[in-house]
Amino acid sequence: MLPRARPQVPRAPVPIGWSRLRTYRLAPVALGLSILVAACAPTHTTSSATAVPTSTASTTAAPPTTVASTSTAAPGGEASTTTTVTPSRLVILPETEIWTFPGPDHYEGDVLSFEIPLGDVESFVVESATLTVDGVEIDAYPIVGRDPLLRSSRLVFLDAFDTDDQVGDHLVHVEAKLPGLEIDVRQRVNVAPAEDRPTQEVGTGWATVASDCCDVTYLEESAAARDLTDVVAVIDSSAAEVETLFGLSLPRVQFVLIDVVWANGGFATSEVVVSYLDRNYTTARRQSFRQIVLHELTHAITQQIQVSTPTPLVEGVAVHFTGGHTKPEPLGARARALSDRGELPGVAELFDTFADLQHESRYAAVGAFTQYLVETYGRDAVLDLYSFPQGREGSGWLNAAAQDILDTDVEALDAGFTEWVAGHEAGSQADDLALSVALQEARRTYQARYSSYPTFSLYPSVADIAQSAIVMREALAPSLVAVEALIAYAQDLIIAGDLATAAPVVEEIERIAADGSIGVGISGEFLDRAEASGRRPRPLRGSSGSSAHVPGEVQLLPDFLPISFGRGHCPERRRHERRPGAESGSRRRHDCIRPGSDHRR
Ligand SMILES: [Zn+2]
Repeated sequence: MLPRARPQVPRAPVPIGWSRLRTYRLAPVALGLSILVAACAPTHTTSSATAVPTSTASTTAAPPTTVASTSTAAPGGEASTTTTVTPSRLVILPETEIWTFPGPDHYEGDVLSFEIPLGDVESFVVESATLTVDGVEIDAYPIVGRDPLLRSSRLVFLDAFDTDDQVGDHLVHVEAKLPGLEIDVRQRVNVAPAEDRPTQEVGTGWATVASDCCDVTYLEESAAARDLTDVVAVIDSSAAEVETLFGLSLPRVQFVLIDVVWANGGFATSEVVVSYLDRNYTTARRQSFRQIVLHELTHAITQQIQVSTPTPLVEGVAVHFTGGHTKPEPLGARARALSDRGELPGVAELFDTFADLQHESRYAAVGAFTQYLVETYGRDAVLDLYSFPQGREGSGWLNAAAQDILDTDVEALDAGFTEWVAGHEAGSQADDLALSVALQEARRTYQARYSSYPTFSLYPSVADIAQSAIVMREALAPSLVAVEALIAYAQDLIIAGDLATAAPVVEEIERIAADGSIGVGISGEFLDRAEASGRRPRPLRGSSGSSAHVPGEVQLLPDFLPISFGRGHCPERRRHERRPGAESGSRRRHDCIRPGSDHRR
């Protein structure tokens, strides 16, 4: 039997034929270095399908070039004034215009969904849409989904292409008409053999453990499965904390841990969904994991007293009551920092334009405003305000609720809040806020252009997603691993308060997000280490405990930050049974022993 042809490196899809022709340029610093550009730069053309170029992600070694970098940070975490790096080459990240999930690499057996970014269009009307693969029309229903964080909509064909017996290259072509928008886009998609599938995806499936507060659903063979005892202990202790904070009981929470990064790393609907993975490059790093759990559980507990509460107050309560947005933060100082930057809107504007404001800034602002309310009127009055029922929105809602509950109005609240903010000093929060905003905006730009995630709002329940790869597959390309590790590194520095070291790292990430070039400065060091680590998938089976990294995981981050979880007693696997009729890979459930507790809220 002849060996099957295996691609050396899974390819980045090459988009062509988009309604605009993009040009790629190197960063000015790179242009001056005469460094070879890797062959993975995307090539665009508006010609027909027969002219689709093939992308290869192989890299070309360049003559060693030593450059003096202005970077003051090294992956080892030690600050220096000058770092000399020897980039082997410059790599341009692949930009994609049809996102294909599970991805970014695809393996035989995947059922692929295709998503075409539409930009900031509000319409959900699709006048016509056709999807073909290799010239054959696919019977798939087009849906428009929206990502409020990226302020972008997408045309989505869910579960459109079954790749059984489809190893190799395929040409995907989408033509569609939406109000004011015509789409004609082609892209090559490579399907690798099933045996290349990352080991952690093989035989995995959802499992559920019943903890004190929650039904915690996680993927077997994931980082969450490995660290389950510690993760569940954090969830349970956080649940107890929010119950104390609000004087309410949590309803039973469906808590889902996913093994990929989606958006900011967590959200709450009928489920609480939080990313838990070693390569988490959102703000929900290991040392800040508890903060996002507290935040999302706050949403879960306040949903029961929420009638017509406007989003600014919902988020303000979550940020203030949990002591910060993405980490413990002094909200008065943070609001003062915003005010000093001229970026703190008046209270009415804050409530009326919340959706349009920068994410980290608006959360800091509403968190501080809620703290002002609590300090001025007391916690109980603020919770009464929170549950005030009436039909208006934004500042209209706040004005009516304030008149009824607090015996004041928006104008007086604005004056009081302005005075309260002026009574704080910004201190280190000025730099912290500026770096946080810059890093998160750069991270979102990186996600939107180079490493996107599916429009998850289209899934009614994350825990019901049958294709595990959707919630567990990560990019293996060293260039993407390097950038994500660099973002995570900057995040860790900000969390640790090492803002001086973080500043040049954030600057480099902003440049990478803007022009897609890596390989110089500190990103070159991360790229070297990512490539030296090879393209190993993560071997998870048999690992246990709360180690910071999975053995064999691509380890790029410096281990200089203390990582600690409280030890918990739950879960112990007592039962491990499948639902009747469930097939392999479907959800499994087991209960835990809770010493001294035989009741469930
Ligand atoms: Zn929230």
